[in-house]
Amino acid sequence: MTQHYDLIVIGGGSGGLSVAERAARHGARCALIEADRLGGTCVNVGCVPKKIMWYAAHLAHALDDAPGYGFRLDYFGFDWKKLKTARDAFVHNINEWYLGYLAEAGVELIRGFGRFADARTLTVGDQRYSADHLVIATGGRPRVPQVPGAQFGITSDGFFELSACPRRIAIAGSGYIAVELAGMLNALGAEVTLLVRKDQVLRPFDAMLREQLMERLREDGIHVLTRTQINAVARLAKGMLSLHCDGRGDTLEVDTLLWAIGRDPNTDTLDLAAAGVTANPNGTIPTDPYQNTNVAGIYAIGDVTEHAQLTPVAIAAGRRLADRLFGQQPERRLFYENIPSVVFSHPPIATVGLTEEDARQRHGTAVRVHQTRFRPMYHAFTQRQPPTAMKLVCVGPEEKIVGCHLIGENADEMLQGFAVAIRMGATKHDFDDTVAIHPTSAEELVTMR
Ligand code: FAD
Ligand code: NDP
Repeated sequence: MTQHYDLIVIGGGSGGLSVAERAARHGARCALIEADRLGGTCVNVGCVPKKIMWYAAHLAHALDDAPGYGFRLDYFGFDWKKLKTARDAFVHNINEWYLGYLAEAGVELIRGFGRFADARTLTVGDQRYSADHLVIATGGRPRVPQVPGAQFGITSDGFFELSACPRRIAIAGSGYIAVELAGMLNALGAEVTLLVRKDQVLRPFDAMLREQLMERLREDGIHVLTRTQINAVARLAKGMLSLHCDGRGDTLEVDTLLWAIGRDPNTDTLDLAAAGVTANPNGTIPTDPYQNTNVAGIYAIGDVTEHAQLTPVAIAAGRRLADRLFGQQPERRLFYENIPSVVFSHPPIATVGLTEEDARQRHGTAVRVHQTRFRPMYHAFTQRQPPTAMKLVCVGPEEKIVGCHLIGENADEMLQGFAVAIRMGATKHDFDDTVAIHPTSAEELVTMR
């Protein structure tokens, strides 16, 4: 027998949980299908355990800085295993919390792997479930390249399983995950080599951020090899790996290799064809601005779509979709412009809006840029001297702010409020007219010439 619902969501990650909970609160009869742990990538192998490791790395830097402030420390090292045990328990609690979250909202949880039988029906094992509305929120998984021996490497998923800090690790990639994990592992004691296939890390970001971060990575002792790609991996004795690299012509020996070269959407095993849903060649699902796929009544949100792969994006798209379908808000949708984002590097990067390059392409000579670079007061007494750099990209005679790019201590916590102002259409004059908070780094954003 087929059970029928108003809404079924496939995937219990950031997006899926949000759309199901919001729809149920609007009174819809909802079910959510999840094959693995509730919370998806963000909770289990993404933002949450990553941020815990980032805090640990941050503390390692603070310990380095402490003598400058007069502290005399006896340092007995870092217990990776102890932190991992605590981190796993923290994540497990969130998994459990989500059971209550769904139950309280009245969402039925179906455990198992969902696939389409037709445009209204899903199967999970032998069971069939149908709904008026179906949401695909199945997220993605780390990509592993097609090179011989690639399977000897781990991905970000494997990073969270490590029971000890690698001694010597190579990280292939140049995006968010590569630079975040490189910074953390370096701070926690690993010798890190970052293998970047082009000239720079974080290529889609503003040039100032890329350049500052490259400089920082190197000054922190990370070996950054540009124009280098791995074309074969071999296992050696004593658990070591030999990486044969293109561009360098020689080999690199490490105990751990980590691929951080992007993620693939989990759409290949859904049997989309049975429902008539079309996907892009890379597996992502195209949608219109309202998250509609090409089939009426089937929607896609989060990492399976073509948009920024960020937790708040998946959540916002999910909640707005539920409001539209069940909350009598027919025009409710997510606007994908001006989405703020932080890279948890050391120091962190925070960015919103257009890069200077993109703004100049779009607005030509109407673009005016204000920037600053300074040593934050905190580093007046520390051996490490990472500067903070800030850039405002403005357009037109009124200097409307269309981009804000920060790298430096606390940039991660600085941007959220400024992102609100920029979304509301703030101009440089509005920033200048705001009284500064002193002494902070953030005040530079409202005192920039
Ligand atoms: P997911 O969270 O991936 O959820 C998809 C769910 O669907 C999974 O639970 C999966 O098991 C389930 N599923 C898949 N197929 C099926 C099926 N057929 N049947 C049943 N269930 C299925 N974003 C940020 O905003 N900030 C960060 O700091 C950040 N850090 C990150 C760090 C790492 C290492 C990674 C990998 C990602 C990070 N992200 C971060 C990105 C963020 O995790 C994702 O954008 C977000 O989790 C996407 O949510 P989603 O709901 O689309 O997919
Ligand atoms: P990204 O898309 O950020 O970066 C991957 C990069 O790796 C590519 O842009 C490319 O850069 C390079 N690359 C691609 N293929 C290869 C290859 N075969 N060999 C070497 N390098 C290659 O992917 P990530 O895996 O880092 O992260 C996935 C997504 O997860 C991110 O886009 C982000 O949305 C999300 N995320 C968000 C975080 C946050 O919010 N703080 C943290 C972590 C992840 P190039 O073309 O320059 O070589």
